[in-house]
Amino acid sequence: MEQNKNNFININNARKKEQIAVMQTIADQAHCPFCSENLRLYHKQPILKEGQYWLVTTNQWPYKHTKHHFLLIYKEHATKLAELKAAAGSELFTLIKELEKKYAFAGGGFIMRFGDTDFSAGSINHLHVQLIIPDALAKDFEPVRVKLGLEWNKRK
Ligand SMILES: [Zn+2]
Repeated sequence: MEQNKNNFININNARKKEQIAVMQTIADQAHCPFCSENLRLYHKQPILKEGQYWLVTTNQWPYKHTKHHFLLIYKEHATKLAELKAAAGSELFTLIKELEKKYAFAGGGFIMRFGDTDFSAGSINHLHVQLIIPDALAKDFEPVRVKLGLEWNKRK
């Protein structure tokens, strides 16, 4: 039986062919690809730093027109904001500030999707922050757009 959405992933929100293929494998396993015991099975980017609450890494499938696309993945399985420990917020900002300094970000933004993936448009339902620095000086640059919510006709 083909199922694009389960408790851990939503393939309807995946963007790239290669990503969709990996996610179909994950769907068959019915486990969370961002939980530490599974992360290395699918995520091939280096872990740049490990804090008490977050792992810092880069997006395996960066959005178009990004110069940097980091992921900060919560180390425990969590899908709702209520599950975040208060001190994790403080550590998150510390880690982002460190990246800002290290990579001399000119500017950018970050987003954390949460909850039901039909609402968040997340492909992986495990709290993580996307930190995006657009490649704004590139000749063919177009704004980096972040989607929230899945189109009604893409639900499978
Ligand atoms: Zn998880």
